[in-house]
Amino acid sequence: MPEHAPETSRTRPDGLLFPDPVRAIIDVREKLAGLRHEKAIVVGLVPTMGSLHEGHLSLVRAAQASCDVVVVSIFINPIQFGAAEDMDTYPADLEKDMALLASVGTDMVFVPPAGELYPEGFETMIDVGSTAKGLCGQSRPGHFEGVATVVAKLLNIISPDRAFFGQKDAQQVVVIRRMVSDLNFDVEIISCPTVRGDDGLALSSRNAYLSEDERSQATVLYRSLLQARDAVAAGETRSAKLKRMIRKLIGAEYMVDFEYARIVDPWTLEPVDEVEGPVLVAIAAMVGNARLIDNMIIEPGGGS
Ligand code: AMP
Repeated sequence: MPEHAPETSRTRPDGLLFPDPVRAIIDVREKLAGLRHEKAIVVGLVPTMGSLHEGHLSLVRAAQASCDVVVVSIFINPIQFGAAEDMDTYPADLEKDMALLASVGTDMVFVPPAGELYPEGFETMIDVGSTAKGLCGQSRPGHFEGVATVVAKLLNIISPDRAFFGQKDAQQVVVIRRMVSDLNFDVEIISCPTVRGDDGLALSSRNAYLSEDERSQATVLYRSLLQARDAVAAGETRSAKLKRMIRKLIGAEYMVDFEYARIVDPWTLEPVDEVEGPVLVAIAAMVGNARLIDNMIIEPGGGS
């Protein structure tokens, strides 16, 4: 096949029809230009790193509900991984991802090779400022700059009207909103609720690293958020006390290595000492080889 072969459709043995992944920027742009030329369309973008699960599919469904054409990108973004992180072992299964996307009916799947997004000589990075520095930014320096840069590139390549992100990665949503506002990207950022397993654990591609015991202990992240929510509902307003409670509960699980519990303003990520309105309670922990995060918006009158 020529390097920039046009996208074709094919039928899988199980009868589902889905497009081949589009690899080249020029092809994704041409295909979208063709669709836009035919009629006015609302384009939705769902950026992912693949290894798709129901959390990703919930974003695709949300995009389908309000967009005419949905583009899903699958790209394990090298510039958002630190040297000691799991870039090389990050789970990948494109066939399975394509089948899942076919089952929910995605219009286009953009799967660029790394060299397509970062050709020789690439060096521009987006510094998103203070929103990238706290929470996960502390232990993952450069992570959100890498995220912001790849999202900016995807927004420029696809020019979506709406882009969909999971609230599970709450800091990522704040960072992207900051960038979109500061750099005047003409796109609406939509944050979708966290999808959890029956045991409460937030779905994550990294859950694949967990043993059965680790998974069972990892549910303490969600349990600790529920405990904090209940404490606030019962009148507790002191962030320091709430964080101590979370730390204690997580500390009871010997396979879970507590990293942080923070209580911050949901829009700015600035620390909050007294819970007087909605706050973002965000936690991170290592469980075996998986670095897991979770969060909940909590407010004094109830809500999550
Ligand atoms: P990732 O492939 O992990 O980069 O995630 C791609 C998108 O899916 C991001 O916007 C994530 O926030 C979102 N996402 C991942 N897990 C979940 C989940 N459990 N619920 C909702 N959205 C999720």
